Amino acid sequence: MYSAFASHRNDSVLGLIGSQDSTLIAAHPVARTQATSNQPYTPVELVAFMDSLEDRNPGQTEFLQAVREVAEKVIPFTREHPEYEEAQILERIAEPDRVIHFRVTWEDDNGAIHVNRGYRIQANNAIGPYKGGLRFDPSVTLSVLKFLAFEQVFKNSLTTLPMGGAKGGSDFDPKGKSNAEVMRFCQSFMTELQRHIGADTDIPAGDIGVGGREIGFLFGQYKRLRNEFTGVLTGKGVGWGGSLIRSEATGYGTVYFAQEMLKHKGESIEGKGCVVSGSGNVSQYTAEKLLTLGATVLTLSDRSGMIHFKDGLTEEQLAAVMHHKNEVRGTLAEFASTNGFVFHADKKPWIVPCDCAFPSATQNELDDNDAKTLLDNGCDVVSEGANMPSTPEAAHRFEEAGILFGPGKAANAGGVATSGLEMSQNSLRLSWPREEVDEKLRGIMHSIHETCVQYGTENGRVNYVTGANIGGFVRVADAMLAYGVM
Ligand code: NDP
Repeated sequence: MYSAFASHRNDSVLGLIGSQDSTLIAAHPVARTQATSNQPYTPVELVAFMDSLEDRNPGQTEFLQAVREVAEKVIPFTREHPEYEEAQILERIAEPDRVIHFRVTWEDDNGAIHVNRGYRIQANNAIGPYKGGLRFDPSVTLSVLKFLAFEQVFKNSLTTLPMGGAKGGSDFDPKGKSNAEVMRFCQSFMTELQRHIGADTDIPAGDIGVGGREIGFLFGQYKRLRNEFTGVLTGKGVGWGGSLIRSEATGYGTVYFAQEMLKHKGESIEGKGCVVSGSGNVSQYTAEKLLTLGATVLTLSDRSGMIHFKDGLTEEQLAAVMHHKNEVRGTLAEFASTNGFVFHADKKPWIVPCDCAFPSATQNELDDNDAKTLLDNGCDVVSEGANMPSTPEAAHRFEEAGILFGPGKAANAGGVATSGLEMSQNSLRLSWPREEVDEKLRGIMHSIHETCVQYGTENGRVNYVTGANIGGFVRVADAMLAYGVM
């Protein structure tokens, strides 16, 4: 039985309805998905595919957005490679292998009982065990985690390491909670999650709201319940199975990817003015690497607003920000007021003129107006540290402008790649030195760039969105073809 996508191999929707699965197509025979400004031509196959997906996943806006970005590139590609189209590979990848949804009950310091939702989305394990982070944030929904798990499939494939895609988390907010409350929540969360994960099955890691402290509590509870010390989580402390450079890896990798894009064009990152959003793990190490390479860091931000470092952030100032965010767990607004910086409440970094932008906070933090402002001000490199930080309109604007635009699934893959290296070290019961891990990380970012060049070169120019999506798809798709229909 063919689905909407496979059934629309001719350019006529109406001509296909009678001959295919009527329950799937009849409900959405006509293009309902409206193209917004800056969106390219929408082929009929894409519209039918997205309508079908929307019917099955109503209201899951982030998930639909992430799949659409991939489908825009992969559907034209599969038209030229009918083996993927006939086997319904994209439809299969867009349906997670498994969605696990559970209650997490915990007690606060005053003895009050709270109930949160926990999730694990195991998206696809065609090329290796499920792998992807855990996010603890009030904004977590099924849609957000499904989008992140879907993205993770392609990202992990691009690293060339044997890792499938997953994501999980909870709507629990660690902000304002005591260490004891965070510990009790993590223990309750892991009491259920442990049934579904394992070093050869599914290996979670950190993400927004899940740093070293949370990974410690989660790993401790897993170890206690299962009576085993295995590499079931990554992002562990270096003294208990963690890898050197893992904390730095996403930020460093995002900068290495920008370096690769610039090098391919005959330029260097040295001396460039860079805006960075966020001030969490990815942003901090993006800023650190940029400073090491002689670039100027002009901004950092958080949910409270933005600091514009007019003379460029210094290493001492970055260390102070890191202490404030990681140890004090305070806001940038508080940091600015106690350290004499002008603070721009509720403002984003994109208004500051720059050469390069590193969106490193969260999804959809950079919209079409922001993209226009960046381009008008001369920005010609965007390397996404966060997952899907650019809205579709912003991403299309960057693509049309022909700037160096590295999408998150390629540019921020250094984090999960180094998690893969942590898994290897755990299996070997070895610990590689810092330089060795950093060298491997550089090598992986170089090879991701090569893959983007291979699949994304159009008329002598590299479209990194095309390259990342097709490059990530092919490896997973070939494995799925080999396994047969399942
Ligand atoms: P952190 O929790 O360490 O930091 C997140 C930062 O983003 C904080 O400064 C936070 O502000 C800010 N932020 C979060 N949500 C919003 C929002 N709605 N509006 C404005 N600012 C916001 O997370 P990470 O640095 O680990 O992750 C950042 C991004 O990078 C995410 O998209 C994540 O999925 C992605 N990523 C992370 C990887 C990793 O290894 N950590 C790997 C690959 C991708 P505040 O301090 O006020 O909370």
